[in-house]
Amino acid sequence: MVILYTYNNGVYINLKDVDTTSKELSHKNIYVNLTNNCPCSCTFCLRNTKEMAKSNSLWLDKEPTAQQVIEEFQKYDLTQFKEIIFCGFGEPLTRLDDLIDVAKYLKNRSSNNPIRINTNGLADLVNKKETATSFKDLINTVSISLNASNAKEYLRLTRSKFGIESYDAMLKFAISCKKYVPNVIMTVVDCIGQEEIDACKAVCDDICVPLRVRPFE
Ligand code: SF4
Repeated sequence: MVILYTYNNGVYINLKDVDTTSKELSHKNIYVNLTNNCPCSCTFCLRNTKEMAKSNSLWLDKEPTAQQVIEEFQKYDLTQFKEIIFCGFGEPLTRLDDLIDVAKYLKNRSSNNPIRINTNGLADLVNKKETATSFKDLINTVSISLNASNAKEYLRLTRSKFGIESYDAMLKFAISCKKYVPNVIMTVVDCIGQEEIDACKAVCDDICVPLRVRPFE
């Protein structure tokens, strides 16, 4: 089971396969794989290809408990890591309470490690409350997948189980995060075309959140 992993030249590496004292981990981003679950079923998501998902070892047959994640982190000198990122194969904020427990442990042990959440931004719909309040003094960055410049296109791409209200809820979540988190960014992939990128930029400008255009992998 892959709980913690890092990347090297586009290949992910299970931290379990690396010597805990290895210099290989120095200044690396470390990713936490909490869940396969997600309220979306994005047209471009690898989770949708069951064969791919099962054969890919990021697939979790059983989700790790918060305690198991903490035990994995206990093996390492956290100060060597660049950034710790809750990302996962699914949506990490479907496990809000466990994520917060792990983040608290990390902050207590090494307050200088920046912690980021990569999310689809639907946490408030999933958890039926304003979730960003629990990020205060714990989470340094929230990176939200904007995906599209309007609700209809967003739903077409993400096939969110919450339907057409998902887009506005995601934008509301971004605004809410700004109250509690120092860095909030929205992202889109570069293959959506310049016109759509410009429209996404206008959406982000409206709510005063920076947009990052990232390469499609
Ligand atoms: S939000 Fe992310 S994890 Fe969920 S279906 Fe879309 S790409 Fe996959």
